[in-house]
Order: sequence, then C-alpha cells, then structure tokens
Amino acid sequence: MPTAIVIGSGLGGLATALRLAHKGYTVTVFEQNDYAGGKLHAIEQEGYRFDLGPSLFTLPHLVDELHQLFPQHKINFDYIKKEIGCHYFWEDGTVFHAYTNQADFIDHAGDVFVEPRSKLINYLKKSKSKYDLTKSLFLEKSLHKWSTYLSKDTFKAVLNAPFLGLNNTLHQENSSFTNPKLTQLFNRYATYNGSSPYKTPGIMSMIPHLEMGIGTFYPHGGMHRISQSLFELAQKVGVEFRFRESVTQINHDHKKATGVTTENGIFPSDLVVSNMDIYPTYKKLIKGIHEPKKTLEQERSSSALIFYWGINREFPELDLHNILFSEDYPSEFEHIFEKKSLSNDPTVYINITSKETKTDAPQGCENWFVMINAPGNYDQNWEELLKNARENIILKINKCLKTDISKHIATEYVLDPRGIEKNTSSYRGALYGAASNDKFAAFLRHPNFNKRLKNLYHVGGSVHPGGGIPLCLLSAQITADLIPQA
Ligand code: FAD
Repeated sequence: MPTAIVIGSGLGGLATALRLAHKGYTVTVFEQNDYAGGKLHAIEQEGYRFDLGPSLFTLPHLVDELHQLFPQHKINFDYIKKEIGCHYFWEDGTVFHAYTNQADFIDHAGDVFVEPRSKLINYLKKSKSKYDLTKSLFLEKSLHKWSTYLSKDTFKAVLNAPFLGLNNTLHQENSSFTNPKLTQLFNRYATYNGSSPYKTPGIMSMIPHLEMGIGTFYPHGGMHRISQSLFELAQKVGVEFRFRESVTQINHDHKKATGVTTENGIFPSDLVVSNMDIYPTYKKLIKGIHEPKKTLEQERSSSALIFYWGINREFPELDLHNILFSEDYPSEFEHIFEKKSLSNDPTVYINITSKETKTDAPQGCENWFVMINAPGNYDQNWEELLKNARENIILKINKCLKTDISKHIATEYVLDPRGIEKNTSSYRGALYGAASNDKFAAFLRHPNFNKRLKNLYHVGGSVHPGGGIPLCLLSAQITADLIPQA
C-alpha cells in the first residue's frame, strides 16, 4: 500500500490523516508533543477543566463528515445548537443577547439598539448572499488551480465582485448602522480570523451568517472532544501516531518529496503532508529550494492572551460565550497591529464551558477562559504586558458585571503568544496563520500543494483557506482531493 507521512496532529493533520487512510494510504503522523490536537488541547487544574484553544464551534458537519467516512467505527461525538450565540456587555449597562435564530436576533437588536429592523434584515441577507457566493471559490477549492477559475461558481462570484465589498473595510461596511454599538458588534467578526475590522475587507461581513444563519454549536464534553474524537477514530482505522517525535527535515530528490527525517532516523514515504505552520516548514524543514518570499512575509494574524480562572461562585448573567466590549475599539486594534502592544481598555471574552458541562467545575463554581486579542510575539516585554493586562481585564469585568472578580479567582493558568508559539510551532504565536488585513491576503496564502516539490502538501491554519476549525478541516478536504486514490 502507498504510504503517507503527516507532520503534526493539529486539526488539519488529523483530518488529513483520516482522509488519506480512507483513500487507502498507510498513514503515519509524527507529532512533537505527547498529545494530539495542537491548539485544540485541554488541561485540568484543581477540579476545573479548561479547553486551552478554540471555544467557538461552527459548521459542525465538517467534523461529522470525517466520522461518516468510517461508519463501521462509532466514536462518541455529539453536540448541541446554542440558542444564544453570545452575551454582550458594555460599561454603560447595555446587555445584548445574540440569538442564533435570525428573527429573534433582529427583534432583540431592534429593541436594545433602537435600530430599524429593515437595516438588520438587509445586513443579514447580504451576509448570507456573500457567504453563498464565495464559499465555493474561497473555502472549498484550491485557489491555485486553473480548474477553480473555470467553474460556474467562480464566474458568479466574479460577476458579483462589486457587491462583495472588496474595496471597503469591514468597519466601513458596518458603519451604516445607526447605533455605534451594532457597528462594534459586527466589527468583532474580523477577529474570527485574527484581523482588524479597520483593515480587513468588507467581504468579511459574511462571517455573521455562520452564527445568525447557520448557528453556533457546543460539543458534549467540551471543544477537546473535537480533536480527541478524531484522534480516537484515526487510531481505530490504523493511523500510526509517533508522539514526542519532531520532524527535522522533509527529504527530497529530483524535485519530489521522498519522506522525512526525525531524531530517530529517516522515514521514506510516497507523500508528505505538513501540518506545521508554513513559515517554519520552509525555514526549518525544507532545505535547498526557493522560498515563496511574498507568502512568508505576509502579515501574521493576531495572537491571544488567556487567563484560565477557576471561579469560586456562579454568575447567572453569563452564558457559554460572553463579550465585554472596549470603549475604544479603534485604539484596541491599533495597539495589536501597529504598536504590537495591548490597549489599557481591551475587549474581554469569557468562555464558560461549565454552563453546559457541569462537571467542568466544582459544584457552585465556574471555569472561566478569559481571553483578550493580542499582537504576535515580537519579543515584547511580556511580563509587564501580562501584569497590566490582568489588571485591565479585572477592571473591565468589575465595571461590566458590577463585581469584584479578584476575590473569586481560586485557580489560575496563563497562556500568552510565546506559549502558543512554543506549544504548536506557530510563527509569532499567530492563532490563524496570516491576517486577512488586505484584500489580496487570500490569494497570497500558501497553496495546499507545493509548487516546487512534487508529493509535498500543506494543511492547517497557516495555508489555504485559512485558520479556525472549519477552515482547517476544509484545508484537509482540499488537500485530500488533490491526492489520488491509493
Ligand atoms: P495546529 O493546531 O497549529 O497544530 C500543529 C501541530 O503540528 C501541533 O500539534 C505541533 O506540535 C505539530 N508540529 C509542528 N511542527 C512539527 C514538527 N516539526 N514535527 C512534529 N510535529 C510538529 N478557531 C475556531 O474555529 N474557533 C475559536 O474559537 C478559536 N479560538 C482560538 C483560541 C486560541 C487561544 C487559539 C490558540 C486558537 C483558536 N482558534 C479558534 C484557531 C484554531 O485553534 C486553529 O486554527 C486550529 O486549531 C489550527 O489547526 P492546525 O491544523 O493549523 O494545527
């Protein structure tokens, strides 16, 4: 049987391993850590369980599809649809519940923000049309194959180019709302791919459709079940995992990948798929070929600073997803992308899985994942930034929730861009590979195949179509489609 080596067991790596096993390859995954999942990992601390990375789950059918490849193997993976996507809070006491049912969202937003319903209806309609028009071109196919441009879907997208909002920013697109709070709420979607609303193109206004059109979901047992269920399935179908084994080189000969080298030796294979971030893949693993300079120089997405707090009481006003907004959103993004620093008034995201899975925290307590968007790691003074950020986050929580949260923090674990970079080899600790702060960003992302080395492929958040759980899973699907049946 032909053999495939996958470097890294992030979501993209796991999904590709499954798809290649399904195509008849004998698959070996090399993973430098002692666990599978990459950014999608979890920890336990003093009776609290925390998902370390992603917390928002959209397009769950992409995970289902992987399980359905092997109907003979039943792995426990299930989820619920959330009725409310997010609870939003502002310092002036405004509270908004973002219903995932569109009619309820429009009604509640019309009331809370005193916004004409017609504007909300039009915005969400446009969001859906943009998503429907572009998903096939930008998300489901390789942007680097001529066949993609010859399809009917692409022709339709090109015809509608002026409508897509490529020439304005997301903020400009959202400024049509009367209430600036709604503009801020819809601007927030730029962060779903680690970008700034003041730079990312208006086409990103398709992202709300994922939540208000399709819905947000929560896997039973927490986000970690996504990576763990795929890992369990991969083991069942015979994928070999070699943990604590870092790949140090991708071997090639006559412009063809021939396998990999690790500290334990040379491993030949018919094809190699790298789930390692594209930047270190070129800088550390591939010797003797020309680098795609423009792609590697692309601006990186934002990173994050996360405090995992065991909280010794319950907050009924909070739900699974909660946002406490900054009073000065432009300054927050200027700090992240221009100053490579943190504003003193950050937007605070609180994720509490114990709202859904009671056993994630001791009785009467909650497990808080408290995150702010942050610049990548440019060797800033992180100790000082962390200290200030902790104080500013506590201030924001106290103002919005009228509490004294420091009294309730029972346990603490902290992850910053340095840790994210170290744990997953993601260049500068970027959460989503390259930022989408430019209308050409999608075209500059690295393709899922290697133009210089045959039989070498690339998956995951740093390559096409981008970062985030759904896009990483789609990258695996595009990659597998490029690889012939064994
Ligand atoms: P990664 O997770 O980057 O994993 C790569 C793997 O490769 C790692 O396991 C690494 O150890 C391994 N590796 C690297 N180099 C080597 C080597 N040389 N040899 C062997 N192994 C190697 N997405 C969402 O959809 N929703 C969210 O709410 C969300 N929030 C996020 C919050 C945080 C804090 C973080 C960190 C990410 C978040 N994301 C979110 C993004 C999402 O987690 C990622 O886009 C996705 O998980 C990345 O998957 P990947 O396939 O790129 O692999």
